[in-house]
Amino acid sequence: MARFPFSAIVGQDEMKLALLIAAVDPSIGGVMVFGDRGTGKSTAARALAALLPPIQVVEGCRFGCAPGHAGACPGACTGGKAVKRPVPFVDLPLGATEDRLLGALDLERALRTGERVYEPGLLARAHRGFLYIDEINLLEDHLVDLLLDVAASGENVVEREGLSVRHAARFVLIGSGNPEEGELRPQLLDRFGLSVDVRTPKAIEDRVEIMRRCAAHDADSAAFAAHWAQEDDKVLQQIARGQRKLARIEVPDALMADAAGLCSAVGVDGLRGELTLMRASRAYAALKGAKAVRREHLVAVAPLALRHRLRRDVLDESGSSARIERALVEHLA
Ligand SMILES: [Zn+2]
Repeated sequence: MARFPFSAIVGQDEMKLALLIAAVDPSIGGVMVFGDRGTGKSTAARALAALLPPIQVVEGCRFGCAPGHAGACPGACTGGKAVKRPVPFVDLPLGATEDRLLGALDLERALRTGERVYEPGLLARAHRGFLYIDEINLLEDHLVDLLLDVAASGENVVEREGLSVRHAARFVLIGSGNPEEGELRPQLLDRFGLSVDVRTPKAIEDRVEIMRRCAAHDADSAAFAAHWAQEDDKVLQQIARGQRKLARIEVPDALMADAAGLCSAVGVDGLRGELTLMRASRAYAALKGAKAVRREHLVAVAPLALRHRLRRDVLDESGSSARIERALVEHLA
């Protein structure tokens, strides 16, 4: 069955925005998705991965190298033929081990032939694509820590069992979790670039529209995809333009002052919040085709960049989103 088109997803505006920002600037540091079960948290991410143009890889390389890449590859793949492959979307299975994630010594081969060969893991498979982790709050802290390290550095370094391997692993990390089933430690949460809320739509007409589109997709997925192809193409053009423009987007001093003021007003510790807020604003401005970051860009991305970094305020029982909205009105109105 053909994929569900990205532009046919009803609602989920924050999720779609975060994904577009991450597609324009993958260094933003991943997206944490909060939401109840059964809200289709991974649908938009899957749809976006499937929408992106196929990537060129060296044929037979298990590390997903681009032809003519400059970095070292443990597979020594230089000179291989180029082939096209869909943008990887790797779903981390529940209970995945460190070996499965990072890759490990191929034990069977070691026993059979005495050769010590490294078998790449899921991080290698996710290179140049997406790594999706459902219920990341159930994953052991040290694995989350490790994933965030690799996502930030773009490189997987394995030094154990007499192995010494490093390979490129640049991917957009997407974690999902239901806040009612245990929370991620704040230190880990803070390392995600953006966070979004995915809720079941409340409006009846939205729910009816979702049912209508799912039924059309189930009945004839190819025709449904064709119907949305033009809209999906517009999204693709928008991302491509954003990627081209990103490096040239200016950030006026006044906007940096706005960002710093906002972070201090809502009580965000450390510099990560401010830096992510500026980065996300730039990526959003690039998506919008602007030359410089404007206040409206900052306002649009502030909840995504800051919501998961707020200090608990015992005197303020309103939710994180409400606190940010209020600070935006008070400081940037
Ligand atoms: Zn390679």
